[in-house]
Amino acid sequence: MRKICLLGSTGSIGTQTLDVIRSHKEEFQLIGLSFGRNVALGLKQIQEFRPKVVCVYSKEEANLLYPDLPPGVKVVYGEQGLVEVAAVCEADILVNAVMGSIGLKPTLGAIESGKDIAIANKETLVTAGHLVTEMAKKYEVELIPVDSEHSAIYQCLHGDVEKDVDRLILTASGGSFRDRSLSELEGVTVEEALNHPNWEMGAKITIDSATMMNKGLEVIEARWLFNIPYEKIDVILHKESIIHSMVEYIDGSVLAHLGTPDMRVPIQYALSKPKRLVLHGGQKLNLWEVGSLHFEKPNMERYRCLKMAFEAGKIGGSAPTVLNAANEIAVSEFLNGNIPFLGIDQLVEKALSDHSPTSDPSLDEIVMIDEETRNKIKSYLN
Ligand code: NDP
Ligand code: MG
Repeated sequence: MRKICLLGSTGSIGTQTLDVIRSHKEEFQLIGLSFGRNVALGLKQIQEFRPKVVCVYSKEEANLLYPDLPPGVKVVYGEQGLVEVAAVCEADILVNAVMGSIGLKPTLGAIESGKDIAIANKETLVTAGHLVTEMAKKYEVELIPVDSEHSAIYQCLHGDVEKDVDRLILTASGGSFRDRSLSELEGVTVEEALNHPNWEMGAKITIDSATMMNKGLEVIEARWLFNIPYEKIDVILHKESIIHSMVEYIDGSVLAHLGTPDMRVPIQYALSKPKRLVLHGGQKLNLWEVGSLHFEKPNMERYRCLKMAFEAGKIGGSAPTVLNAANEIAVSEFLNGNIPFLGIDQLVEKALSDHSPTSDPSLDEIVMIDEETRNKIKSYLN
């Protein structure tokens, strides 16, 4: 029985993680969970799974929970609460499915307390990949990918990565606007941007997919998860999202992971590996029905966020921290209707060009640079 702590239980990945736990009660037990403001759904989850510890966004949400809370459930809140629930509860594994770099400190705390980390929260690896991987090595815990591309690569990687692997090839669906040119993106609405062709996900990552920043963040995520240089990471457009990613070896062999687009597959594998479990309610891949698969080289001038992510990753140090923080705020401003879609990459570009990167930043420096970048973006808008 694997004991699980889940951060971000009310989100897209969170609810699908609970589906997996619910469908394999003989394998998994939920010990702790966190959510933000969705008290109605969070309460139902608490009543169903009876975790020992729960973290919510603030005291306000905690107060809303108390009247209906089952006995024996401890409630904590805020950033400190998130760290507490991730570190304290006696889980074997932390599923980090919160959105944004708020996931960094709880991840580090969980590593220190010896838990393996099933990581969906890519922003944590982008903002401080060097700290997370160093710490995982020190405490001998594993970082297990949940992101579908990274799970695919994880499942296709064998042998000596440094010697045997020529390239990791991340596939990209191209997001909501893949069939539009750059000039056709002027004036697109939030609703259009939220309409992803292949995946149903949280709002922020759906916008990231439309700008291709998501793929950029995933390139940096891959660099840290697989300890591989950027020169060996490629992105290919593949609109069907059937091949989830590939590994090319020095002898020219390419191993790929295929399946229908269903996040429960990588979530479940992250929790069960190396064992495979039946995916209850899952659809098997029928290649006859799919018919053909398409591939295209991404145009870096069209997908400027992808280009900036590669550049920031190669610069390293605090540059990815700035890329991520600027993007988080820019996306939230777009979602709130305050900037146009094309304003997202402009803000990220400005934040990066105004920043003098620090090499090997400490946790305190990262927290400070993240905060400064968020404030800077808001000041550009004023
Ligand atoms: P959602 O927006 O659907 O869910 C985010 C979750 O985090 C919710 O439970 C939310 O709580 C909680 N949360 C958000 N902000 C805070 C905060 N400040 N403090 C505490 N809790 C917070 O996101 P997704 O599930 O789509 O994505 C989660 C992560 O997984 C992201 O990093 C994303 O990039 C990654 N990912 C997602 C995929 C997907 O298919 N969705 C695929 C691959 C990676 P509440 O809603 O209650 O406020
Ligand atoms: Mg992905």
